[in-house]
Amino acid sequence: MSARPGVVYLVGAGPGDPGLMTVRSLQLIASADAIFHDRLIPPGALAGAREEAELVYVGKNPAGGPKSPPGGDSPARRCTFPQADITGRLVEAARAGKSVVRLKGGDPFVFGRGGEEGEALRAAGVEFEVVPGVTAGVAASAYAGIPVTHRDDASAVAFITGHEDPEKPETALDWEALARFPGTLVFYMGVKRLADNAAALIAAGRDPDEPAAAIERGTMAGQRTVVATLATLAEAAEREGIGAPALIVVGPVVERREALDWLERRPLHGRRIVVTRARAQAGGLAANLRALGAEVVELPAIRIEPRIESAAVRRAVERIDEYALICVTSPNGADLLFSALAEVGLDARALGPAPTRPKEKQGGEASAAAELSAPAAAGGETSAPTRTTVAAIGPGTARALAERGIVADVVPERFVAEALVEALDAIEIDGKRVLIARAAEARDVLPEALRKRGAEVDVVALYETVRETPDAEAVEAAQGADYVTFTSSSTVRNLTETLGECFPAAARVVSIGPITSEAARDAGLEVAVEAERHDIDGLVDALVVDATPE
Ligand code: SAH
Repeated sequence: MSARPGVVYLVGAGPGDPGLMTVRSLQLIASADAIFHDRLIPPGALAGAREEAELVYVGKNPAGGPKSPPGGDSPARRCTFPQADITGRLVEAARAGKSVVRLKGGDPFVFGRGGEEGEALRAAGVEFEVVPGVTAGVAASAYAGIPVTHRDDASAVAFITGHEDPEKPETALDWEALARFPGTLVFYMGVKRLADNAAALIAAGRDPDEPAAAIERGTMAGQRTVVATLATLAEAAEREGIGAPALIVVGPVVERREALDWLERRPLHGRRIVVTRARAQAGGLAANLRALGAEVVELPAIRIEPRIESAAVRRAVERIDEYALICVTSPNGADLLFSALAEVGLDARALGPAPTRPKEKQGGEASAAAELSAPAAAGGETSAPTRTTVAAIGPGTARALAERGIVADVVPERFVAEALVEALDAIEIDGKRVLIARAAEARDVLPEALRKRGAEVDVVALYETVRETPDAEAVEAAQGADYVTFTSSSTVRNLTETLGECFPAAARVVSIGPITSEAARDAGLEVAVEAERHDIDGLVDALVVDATPE
């Protein structure tokens, strides 16, 4: 159900991993008129907000300095508001008839001041709904492989705020009670006062040798866990430079991490990797890398600008059935070819009948393709319908075609035009019409090779790749990157030219194949890793091998 006008939703956004946001929270974010959010919300949490939604950053900054939120979604993120102003603004927005989401890290009622806000809303006569979130105490522990309860170790768990001021008797924690507590102690906001709190617990009788852990940025790509004892944790955390947000866990359950740690064992955990593909294509690579534990910085170097309105494209698609061979050179090309067909009222059927498939496919791709094209050759120039052979560079392009109902006849394994030329070697194209649907700035290897063999080749540019303006935050994040990945020579050229001096010099450059590597070397970069298989999976495999110690 969408957010209703005049209602304030106190919504938990979870501990940081976007995947731990609830279905309800996403529904409300997608439909709210106004979203007031904290600093500690997952990256991209607001990506699904309506275009017209008012996004207001109202978080307090624990560090005091002007630090932007990890998500970095809101243009107003540098402004902060005292609590009274926040509730005032929530009331005002609801009274103005807006549907309002108040988005908080973790759970709104666990050290989130959601209780206070709810009370103020009730006092003002504003209707509200509470949407619980996955709280850090449970989630960061789980992601660190520490079960907060365990049949053998802990039958209870306490959530405690670690930053109470001991000078103020009315708020000071009851350390004796906490020392006696028969279960796991989980401290929120406890990094700054870690040494004092641990000393207070020990002084009150808690065992100094009890296992204890500090979990920094729990559930996020940069999660780090330091394990020590209650007596030694403060020193260990300081040595490792553990900072907020972090959670302190005290109890025998911490030892279970030895068997239960899972996130920090992933092959790319703790690695920051820059993805330079165009935003529209970055998703698959970014998701693959994230699944392997990497922290991904999306810094698109290029953007795809469709050019399907041109007269040349129109002419080509209107008579697409006249081509004996259609070569599609990229997934973008596949998608835009069909968009271009749709523009003139056509669809996949316009490509004409596929070549008759041989009963048994024998030999490699090329010999199978030769058999496929035979009927077309026998059909003569005039009456018989053209048998259309469709060739795709690389499996990604073939997949994009398959999504439109076209099964490519020729798919070279390797990702380059030369491989397609080779694969088409056995196909009879002398005197035949060939369409090459591709990017404006592609190399001429393929058309030249086919023309040499007597084909009448039309090359149409379905899109242009243009330089993307870099996002300042992404550039900053990229500075600390371990790897920069390149999936095409145009991304290399555009990114190196855009960034200039700001190119992360210490990062290892990963290239999808020899042509991209060459472009990287031309741009003055040293290529550390080159994929053996020139597609996204091949690139990811090569990167994992490089990142994994022998
Ligand atoms: N309402 C939030 C807690 C807000 S208090 C919740 O339910 O999780 C902020 C404190 O929560 C931080 O100081 C830190 O102790 C803890 N915290 C929040 N997110 C965290 C994370 N991703 N990893 C570790 N601790 C986190």
